[in-house]
Amino acid sequence: MSRDLTKEEQQKFADMYGTGTKCVSCGNQDVIVKIWEKHGTNAAEIGGDISPSGIVGALVTCDACDHAETVARARLLEAG
Ligand SMILES: [Zn+2]
Repeated sequence: MSRDLTKEEQQKFADMYGTGTKCVSCGNQDVIVKIWEKHGTNAAEIGGDISPSGIVGALVTCDACDHAETVARARLLEAG
């Protein structure tokens, strides 16, 4: 399952992975960060573990231009 991060979590996500605060294509700062939780973790809950041990993937999407940036598992692990 997946869910969208809250604005607060989005900031944490950005600190951890270096992306997720704005659209890399058009610069819009009102992006949505969607995460897929790892089985057996609490990442599906607000305030849950969004570190590389809690999620298997993420997607940063922009409503303004429809750009979507995939944050792959490999990149999550690199950041962690
Ligand atoms: Zn955009």
